[in-house]
Amino acid sequence: MDFESLGLSEPVLKAVADAGYSTPTPIQAQAIPIVLMGRDVLGTAQTGTGKTAGFTLPLIDILAGGRARARMPRALILEPTRELADQVAQSFDKYGKNSPLSMALLIGGVNYTEQEKLLDRGVDVLIATPGRLIDHFERGKVMLTGVQIFVIDEADRMLDMGFMPDIERIGKMLPPLRQTLFFSATMAADMRKLADKFLSNPKEIEVARQATTAESIAQFQIQVSHRLKREALRTLIRNEDVKNAIIFCNRKRDVDILAKSLIRHGFDAAALHGDMDQSVRTATLEKFKKGEIGILVASDVAARGLDVQGLTHVFNFDVPTHPEDYVHRIGRTGRAGMNGRAFTLVAGEDGKYLQQITRLIQRDIPVMELQGFTHEEGDAAATAADERAERGDRKEGRGRGRGGRGRDREGDRNRARDRSREPRASDASMEPAVASPASIEQPMAEPVEVASQEERKPRRDRSRRDRPQQDRPRQERSEQQDQPREARRDRNDRGGRRDHREDREPPVIGMGDHVPEFLLRPSRRAS
Ligand code: AMP
Repeated sequence: MDFESLGLSEPVLKAVADAGYSTPTPIQAQAIPIVLMGRDVLGTAQTGTGKTAGFTLPLIDILAGGRARARMPRALILEPTRELADQVAQSFDKYGKNSPLSMALLIGGVNYTEQEKLLDRGVDVLIATPGRLIDHFERGKVMLTGVQIFVIDEADRMLDMGFMPDIERIGKMLPPLRQTLFFSATMAADMRKLADKFLSNPKEIEVARQATTAESIAQFQIQVSHRLKREALRTLIRNEDVKNAIIFCNRKRDVDILAKSLIRHGFDAAALHGDMDQSVRTATLEKFKKGEIGILVASDVAARGLDVQGLTHVFNFDVPTHPEDYVHRIGRTGRAGMNGRAFTLVAGEDGKYLQQITRLIQRDIPVMELQGFTHEEGDAAATAADERAERGDRKEGRGRGRGGRGRDREGDRNRARDRSREPRASDASMEPAVASPASIEQPMAEPVEVASQEERKPRRDRSRRDRPQQDRPRQERSEQQDQPREARRDRNDRGGRRDHREDREPPVIGMGDHVPEFLLRPSRRAS
């Protein structure tokens, strides 16, 4: 099959050819004719399958006839994270380069004024994160009654991040007569229920189950003591022929700590997570994509779906606690016909999470021996003691405010440990215990069978802070509502408060990291 047979216009076909695509991916081949017919779509597809072009190319053709009106966009694309929204905006520029359509990217963390100017002038397509879009709506800067095409992308992630109340609210601002395209990486029962609220007689399209395999990614696990993880990682990076790599941590706090530690050890690294200022996030990502930074230490939310050309390595500094995250993480490499390598450091009690992963991907991950870093007996106890010690340090640090002496001491201790324990590169040898690498996620997957019920089970083990807003106690809700709306929205866009996966620490009691300024002021002594 070729693009010419899908019913797209000449200008769009030219843009596709200029992008270097010769054959439509399975989701494109299925979705494009359906979208051009004006039907709703319920698509099960992950990032990496070419779904962005699957909805953007026909959208450009459908909108080609009309004209933009001030503050009344004709198409709305919702994305869960700023990075994904930005990536879709870049795709829109690429695919729409021969069409006169205008587009605005509405994401949090950036100035409102420029976005408002664009809205006033009139745009055909809005690509937005939910929080910022609602802010503009509440300021009277945008009306959604003219939206003909509504795209909800990465719906499962939206649900995870607690965006559903916002999405439902946005749904009510849209006209009932419209075309809706709903995409999710998984289609569990709760996702279908949600889709039912937005779609009318949709055509179902499914191109990849939750975990498909690509021979292009060689995967390994490294058993390592919890305390030696950073040293093991450094050795591994030195031993591997790393051109560019993403290192994933489970917690935002660890992203910062690890990035700083790598920089201190002379690596060309930078951090990327949802609590960072948006301008820094954008600049960091740009530098990484241009190859000016070699190693990106990231959280799941910030790096979800990132499309970085020719990424050679993914390192899981922590084993992800949700097995699908493993698939998403390592799928950043081995794309577009290139080979990639993915390493997972397994320490302490990570075994149970690793088991969930191997069950999901239906294959074992070969163990690679990194000499000097074997996972010792009794490691779990050592880990627990280590974690207790760290927690103790953190409490001390909090009492003294951010960057207090407690934290410095922790840094000193780690530095000393790094110096004393670091094995020389020549000491370390790596021998894959299994010759043929396991592999995962084919970026351009053929349609495959649906995941089993077990694999699709929705996550029910949410902690109190993970629960959607409507489930939380009234007092907790009203505390949130007391905050300025804009600040709340901005945090939501960053995934800061709501993304429970990035923040698995116990709830902070009392003032936490925040120390009121008056407590830090030196007291004046009465003379
Ligand atoms: P997506 O799933 O939309 O994030 O796309 C994943 C990657 O596939 C992006 O780098 C696209 O540029 C690329 N891509 C999309 N469609 C095609 C195609 N038909 N042929 C080759 N590459 C494609």
